[in-house]
Amino acid sequence: MKILVRNALLRSFAPGRPHTEHADILVSGDTIDTVAPAGSLPDDPQTQVIDATGHLVMPGLINAHFHSPVNHLKGSLPSLPLEIFMLYESPNLPGLKPSPRFAYVRTLLAAAEMLKLGTTSVQDDAFFVPQPTPEIIDAVMQAYADCGIRARLALDQSNLPELGKLPYLAEALPAELRNSLAAPPPADTSELLACTRHLIETWHGKSGGRLMAAVSCSAPQRVSDDYLAALDDLSKAHDLPFYVHILETRTQRVLGNVRGRSLVQDFAARGALSDRCNVIHAIWMDDADYDLIAAAGACVAHNPISNLRLGSGVMPFRRLRERGITIALGTDEAIADDSVNMWAVAKMAGLIHNIADPDYARWPQAAEVLACLFTGGARAMRQAGRIGAIAPGMQADLIMLDLDTLAFTPLNDLDRQLVYCENGSSVRLTMVAGAIIARDGKLLTIDEPALRAEARSLAAALAGAGQTEQAAAPYLPYYRDMYLRAAAADLGMLRAVPHKDWTA
Ligand SMILES: [Zn+2]
Repeated sequence: MKILVRNALLRSFAPGRPHTEHADILVSGDTIDTVAPAGSLPDDPQTQVIDATGHLVMPGLINAHFHSPVNHLKGSLPSLPLEIFMLYESPNLPGLKPSPRFAYVRTLLAAAEMLKLGTTSVQDDAFFVPQPTPEIIDAVMQAYADCGIRARLALDQSNLPELGKLPYLAEALPAELRNSLAAPPPADTSELLACTRHLIETWHGKSGGRLMAAVSCSAPQRVSDDYLAALDDLSKAHDLPFYVHILETRTQRVLGNVRGRSLVQDFAARGALSDRCNVIHAIWMDDADYDLIAAAGACVAHNPISNLRLGSGVMPFRRLRERGITIALGTDEAIADDSVNMWAVAKMAGLIHNIADPDYARWPQAAEVLACLFTGGARAMRQAGRIGAIAPGMQADLIMLDLDTLAFTPLNDLDRQLVYCENGSSVRLTMVAGAIIARDGKLLTIDEPALRAEARSLAAALAGAGQTEQAAAPYLPYYRDMYLRAAAADLGMLRAVPHKDWTA
């Protein structure tokens, strides 16, 4: 099957190509076959022709960090700091255990949103409560197989009790609550590793390579040495990205200080920091931490909207860029963004760092944000040279935007208007691996009204909904004390923007 996209304004993001060009793009199977001057490629009866006159063609957006299991919970929580947010987010209540069908449907919810808005690739660092099973993993991957998005899935599971992951709590909690947090998680190390092996063996490379596995340890403080080493071995053996959340919050910086070394240093000393790593958030780090990440060649997944939603702070963008650290962009989960819209993430990445540094020469430029989105995203997925640009030999993951919209009228500066004006409403076509997945606002792979109706009824039927507040209540005062104590600690760094009177 061949598709000829004719007479587009092309922003290819391919090295060596012009910034923009008027072009025809011939797609053959799942690959970009030819990019040639507009009007120069002949069509034939076997080729489907798409007239792109008046439209921009560019690579599909890459969501480098996401967690699908809370797709049905968008908007359900107020803004709270991560440690308190997690008390409410997905407690281990029997009534919240998903059926495989529920996991399938909720996975499709955000995939549908991403595809309609032009996101063609996603890295899903999925956590399952109480634990992953082969059936649930299969349901999530089947959803990605069916909807047509390019997806990597990892299992973000801790194998340690909750108590050791947070500072101060062990001494503050009464015995009954302390004992409950000292209990091991439902699945042990061998069960968790068996699930990751199932994911790799069953799904990695399927759907013509569109579906892929990754490995996740969630965070250094959440896993034992033997589990971390086994995950790293799997990542190495199969050349898979290794997802790890490090120093998202001030409280996590305090935890490292209490233990005697930062969580980045801890992770590196345990031998797991490598160029396969996606270090997620990387906010409360010092220069030595960033030096370690740069020396290892690891990428950082930057989620500026989630970081604001949870009040985590602002990653020092320029410090990372100065060290040559690859930055990719992500939404994080749909309960902490909650729109799963990479245009909004790009805009926030293009704005938030302006208040972090008075020297405007160091503020991110639009082209730099777009480079994070495409080049950074492709590299984080270990798909550099396959996605993130439009050039012969690349995977045909592309989107077509109508330039006759308010976002681009008049067209003054394409890159700035992509970052600061577009919100996904100009996207007219989404193609993944050569297949047209969405056209003129309609998904071709999903019956969206039926999906929405089923998601509503499945969510309403969840027996555990409404019990989360009750489950969190006994812990809340202790978590709040812990959080405020960590907030008051002098860490020698600031990654937030507190109001301060000039005279104070
Ligand atoms: Zn995350």
